[in-house]
Amino acid sequence: MSESKNLVPRIGFHAPVAGGLHKALLKSREMNADAVQIFSRNPRGWTARPLVNEEVELFRSTRAETKISPVVVHCNYLVNLAAADGAIREKSVKGFREEIERGIILEADYLVVHPGSAKGSCEADGVRTCAESLKAACADLDLNSLRILIENTAGQGECIGYRFEHLRDIIMACSELNLGVCFDTAHAFAAGYDLRDDDGYVATLEALERNVKLTNIPIIHFNDSKAAYNSRVDRHWHIGAGEIGQEAMRRIARAREFAHAAFLLETPQDETGDDARNLATLRSFITM
Ligand SMILES: [Zn+2]
Ligand SMILES: [Zn+2]
Repeated sequence: MSESKNLVPRIGFHAPVAGGLHKALLKSREMNADAVQIFSRNPRGWTARPLVNEEVELFRSTRAETKISPVVVHCNYLVNLAAADGAIREKSVKGFREEIERGIILEADYLVVHPGSAKGSCEADGVRTCAESLKAACADLDLNSLRILIENTAGQGECIGYRFEHLRDIIMACSELNLGVCFDTAHAFAAGYDLRDDDGYVATLEALERNVKLTNIPIIHFNDSKAAYNSRVDRHWHIGAGEIGQEAMRRIARAREFAHAAFLLETPQDETGDDARNLATLRSFITM
């Protein structure tokens, strides 16, 4: 698989929204990033404070000024679209619909969601439930230019979506929604796609193309993994310092197959400058 010579992917990171959603855009510009991912609400609570006009206007005008694009919203962590429990599923559909509505109001380009946990049922049922939940959440909504992306997972616990086949089945069951995929490198590696290895790398890209098509992957979550290969543990790590490692991460960043996508970091922010360092590493991969 060849490297890109001219087309360079857009890069950015999951930016904090303390002090207002627009702060994520300002921070991204300060770091010389092109793209951004945010939470549009508290990621660990069921109830979201409604967006007020003032902050929406500020977000839109800051975006026009900074030209940060694409803007990605990551769904909160409580939503479980694959839930076997009826009450949790109902709450999740409602919560996800709110995420969609917020994304539309903010004029975000993408809303990223994990397929969920099939706890209490089998994987096939989880995949079916996830597709039904997505359709229910979107019922009678005009998504405008917001596209929903399903993220591959590490397969921790009973989470589905760790095989690209799961993503394919969800996408096919919701063809009217034009779903895409957000590809997380750390999740794929922990789920058993060996991105370090020559054959494993090629096989992973082939599996992506076969199941979901590479052109349907507008966003890459570019994370190294603290967790071992095939461990099914979701633990992001600094670029080049994890189990995937420098060479394999560079290869992914330079892949012609991903040059159309935006690469977003979700690496740990333990020390001041972590984001700047990881962004600089990613930038060095694509420009060298
Ligand atoms: Zn995610
Ligand atoms: Zn991710």
